[in-house]
This record gives sequence, structure tokens and C-alpha cells, in this order.
Amino acid sequence: MGARLRVGRQGGAVTSYRGRFAPTPSGALHFGSLIAALASFLDARRAGGEWLLRIEDIDPPRCPPGAADTILHQLTAFGLHWDGPVHWQHGRDGAYSAALERLAALGLAYPCSCSRKQWRAHPIYPGWCREGVCEPDKPVAWRLRSDLGLRPVVWEDRLFGEQRFDPAELGDVVLKRKDGLWAYQLAVVVDDAEQGISDVVRGHDLLDNTPWQRQLQHALGLPEPRYLHLPLIVNREGQKLSKQNLAPALPLEDTEVRPLLHRALAALDQAPPEALAGAPVSEQLAWAIHHWDPRRIHPAVNRSE
Ligand code: GLU
Repeated sequence: MGARLRVGRQGGAVTSYRGRFAPTPSGALHFGSLIAALASFLDARRAGGEWLLRIEDIDPPRCPPGAADTILHQLTAFGLHWDGPVHWQHGRDGAYSAALERLAALGLAYPCSCSRKQWRAHPIYPGWCREGVCEPDKPVAWRLRSDLGLRPVVWEDRLFGEQRFDPAELGDVVLKRKDGLWAYQLAVVVDDAEQGISDVVRGHDLLDNTPWQRQLQHALGLPEPRYLHLPLIVNREGQKLSKQNLAPALPLEDTEVRPLLHRALAALDQAPPEALAGAPVSEQLAWAIHHWDPRRIHPAVNRSE
């Protein structure tokens, strides 16, 4: 399935595919998150690769106690067993600081005191603090400089094809927030590299974050994973499923898990046989790994539940 191959010690080809599922534990998983977890799992297993779990808990106020545990139970109920220990983002300050320091030393990151209110008339942050902080007494965020000879960001998404973004339209993304919390863009890039991720499979809502991640990988000299973005599952009102719009949490009860897993395989256009709907999760997953073909997924941005 396109995984990179290297020659093993015995001379045979072994796969170096490494995928991951990286939920933010802001609440329990719902059907939309199941699609991302399941597709990344199947893609990794089909390639004979590893599938890692990373809990993206860099924003404690957004992560209620117990939510991460619930996620681990839900994945287990759906038979989505990850390899190795769970990777947590809390306590990774050292690694994120080192990356930020490196970018600052390269002149690619700068402190910024501006508030969104000050630049709200502009489509993106205009870079006022690039040559020196506007208001040195105020708290600062750290931003990535996007104006320093960066080429257009281009990559081939495995489902949506060629993606091309102009750095001038991307703006200077925040790497560390004024409240001292790390921004998703920096943490995800540092950890994808730390975990040796070769393939990122996730929802289409994150596709327009990918160019910043590619810029950061380039600036930090990190390997660039391949990307497969998935159609986003939306409700009848066309909204992304989320806790805010009351998407139901995935069940833990096996009798409910089985038909829902089948529905998720159907939503990924894998055409699971009808007879499989009541089968144990291990049987459904064995079928799905064997038949996994991401080229069957219809590349629509949104997909109703
Ligand atoms: N933590 C992000 C989320 O739950 C996903 C990160 C990723 O897959 O890159 O939306």
C-alpha cells in the first residue's frame, strides 16, 4: 500500500510504515473520530505497519478529567489496539521548547504582542512584530515567519491529490500562545517526528493545517510524512460532529459496537458484506484489513452521517 520499504536484517523487505491516531481528549470519541481512528488503523495494518496512539492533551482547560481514559476504553471496545505505550503530550515542554529555540535561532520564529482585535481588519496577521515586538511590556505569543524565502507549500494528498498553498496567504502561525500553552501545529510536528510517523490519516478539517506543518517540518529539517485526509462526517445540518453539537459518544457495549463498526466501514466506502454487520469486531476488522483500499473512498469534503 505504498509504505516505504527497507531491507531487513535477513535480506527480506520489511515495511517501515508507522501510523497514528492523535485525539484531543476534549471529550469522548464520536462517529466522526471513529472514522479517523479506523481508517488510520486499517491503513497501518494493511501495510503491515505499526499504529500508535498519541493523546494530544496540550490544552488542559479543554481536557476534562477522565476523557482520555474514556477514549482508551472506546478504542479497545472497537478492537483498535495500538502498538507500544500511549504517547502523551503533557510533559513534553522540553521537546517543544527545543524546537521553538531552534526556529528562533534560525530567525524563523518571533515573539508577538499583538491581539487579534488589533489586526481584525486583515485576513491574516500582517507580521507587525517581525522586526521587533510592538508592545514589549505585554505578554507575547510566538509565531512562525512565513515571509522568509519559503516556497509554495505543495504536496500530494493520497485522496485529494495535489495541494498547493501560497506562504503569503498562510500567514505567521502561532507556535506558542500568550498564555504559555503550546500550539497544536508545533506539538504535532515535533511528535510526528519523535514517533517516526510515516503516514498521517485524519479528517479533512485538518487539511488546511497541513501546510503549516509542512513549513515547520521543512524549517526544522524533519522528515515529511505522507498525508491522507478523509471526508469529514457531518450531521444533517451540515455541521462537523462534535461534543458542542451533541454527537453521541461511541458505545462500549459489544452489541452496539458491532453494527456501528460496520456502519463506519460503509462510510469509508469499503462495502462490507451485509452479513458482517453482526460479526464480532475481530472478524469485521480482519475482513476490513484484508480488503482495505483507500482509493475506494469518494473524495468529497463532507459526508453525511
Ligand atoms: N488532535 C487533533 C484532533 O483531535 C488531531 C491531530 C492530528 O490528527 O493531526 O482534532
